[in-house]
Amino acid sequence: MGIAVSPQIHPQVAEFIDQPRKMLINGRWVNAASGKTFPTYNPATGEILAHVAEGDREDINQAVKAARNAFDNGPWRRMTASQRGRLIWKLADLLEQHTEEFGYIESLDNGKPLNIAKAADVPLAVDLFRYMAGWATKIEGNTIPLSVPYTPGAKYLAYTLREPVGVVGQIIPWNFPLLMAAWKLGPALATGCTVVLKPAEQTPLSALRLGDLIMEAGFPEGVVNIVPGYGETAGAALAAHPDVDKVAFTGSTEVGKLIVHAAAGNLKKVSLELGGKSPNVVFKDADLEIAIPGSASAIFFNHGQCCCAGSRLYVEKSVYDQVVEGVAEAARKIKVGSGLDPDTQMGPLVSEEQMNRVCGYLDAGLSEGAKAIAGGHKAGDRGYFVEPTVLVNTQEKMKVVQEEIFGPVVVAMPFTDPEEIIPRANNSDYGLAAAVWTRDIGKAHRMAEQLRAGTVWINCYNIFDAAMPFGGYKQSGWGREMGHDVLNLYTQTKAVCTRIA
Ligand code: NAP
Ligand code: MG
Repeated sequence: MGIAVSPQIHPQVAEFIDQPRKMLINGRWVNAASGKTFPTYNPATGEILAHVAEGDREDINQAVKAARNAFDNGPWRRMTASQRGRLIWKLADLLEQHTEEFGYIESLDNGKPLNIAKAADVPLAVDLFRYMAGWATKIEGNTIPLSVPYTPGAKYLAYTLREPVGVVGQIIPWNFPLLMAAWKLGPALATGCTVVLKPAEQTPLSALRLGDLIMEAGFPEGVVNIVPGYGETAGAALAAHPDVDKVAFTGSTEVGKLIVHAAAGNLKKVSLELGGKSPNVVFKDADLEIAIPGSASAIFFNHGQCCCAGSRLYVEKSVYDQVVEGVAEAARKIKVGSGLDPDTQMGPLVSEEQMNRVCGYLDAGLSEGAKAIAGGHKAGDRGYFVEPTVLVNTQEKMKVVQEEIFGPVVVAMPFTDPEEIIPRANNSDYGLAAAVWTRDIGKAHRMAEQLRAGTVWINCYNIFDAAMPFGGYKQSGWGREMGHDVLNLYTQTKAVCTRIA
């Protein structure tokens, strides 16, 4: 059923993908109610990698029922916070022990280099679970002094409880399949919610393997349910389900808006982590030795398939040629190839559809007058590879400057007056991230204050930490993931007031 097992493939992974993978509902691995499966592809070859149960409305119904029952009646709610925290910590330990295996799964299913998956995706997911495990015992309310004017002399004890929001539907994308599952599951479990998780159709495998570890760690049945399937069917059913209390979504702004509409039926809580077109601003007083490679990695990390990719490069005029040529030189040197090849620095894009989408943007940019000084084309004759690309001669109004490409394509533009750069950097419907490269700390922090973005990196890019909140201004989303901010998305506050005199 799976691919011809190449000797390169990790033996446990070869075994895992050899059988059609089932979905996790109420602690059991089951087939789709319809009996249907769908294929997931290896983007380095375009070949089928594995078959996966295709969840649909009926499976979502079953999963929500299990999550509802686990929340309302199961042992999960009776566990102490410390017990919950220990389960999450145990999951982190198990995941860490399987770093190699998850690296392979991620590389095969998504295309990213194995070495990067092992060095970034898996350890960041482990860290996220550990960080959230610590929060389980620290979710506290307040005591509140009351001064009720219409009951003079009476005394009250008022306090707040922070309670789990309930059953959470989580819909995640394909760019960091395991890490996005961790970002979503970690806070839901720390706060005592129960979950139905729908991974992206392109990359369901690591979430399904994580399901094994969740059961092995000892989470009660029904606390985490994982239903792979298509967005238009399984995803839409989850977002609209009347018994789901909250939906957490990461993906395109376009689908984010559909989620908001779907959630309106029962007014479930909604959090959204959406697209971006993040400005990366290099001043002439920057340390160019770090700004040039930093700006290249800002766009080319994960093949540009990052919602926070530094995809608009603004460079102060006097250093423009040097910086842009430096980034182009870095782009030309990137070794593009299969994620399993240890020399590979950039793998294929996730799917044929995504490759075509990115190439469509390249065509649009070139026909509007942009020029590629590195890359500009599809690469190779099989698999979904696109060359790392630097576009110059770009104008603010061009499609390639306005829209999220979600591929290894940066648009470079000069600026002359530092005053002009803030409105240009903020001239986007998005507001996920931004970066500033300068040695002037006053200027750096003035910029940080004025940039309308959920994250501002100064003299660095793509620095993530479980303790640092992440999320978007404007159409980049609602709410913040990670850090203690995320706990607000998974809890609600109850005020309790007692007359004591
Ligand atoms: P997408 O369509 O937004 O998919 C994200 C998730 O939403 C997937 O699990 C998807 O399921 C699901 N989904 C799709 N339609 C849905 C619906 N009507 N109701 C509920 N869930 C639904 O993103 P994509 O198609 O994978 O990529 C398209 C573009 O989105 C990219 O080119 C990029 O611009 C952007 N994107 C952004 C991020 C980010 O992190 N902000 C991540 C990925 C993509 P299926 O995968 O099964 O369809
Ligand atoms: Mg899709």
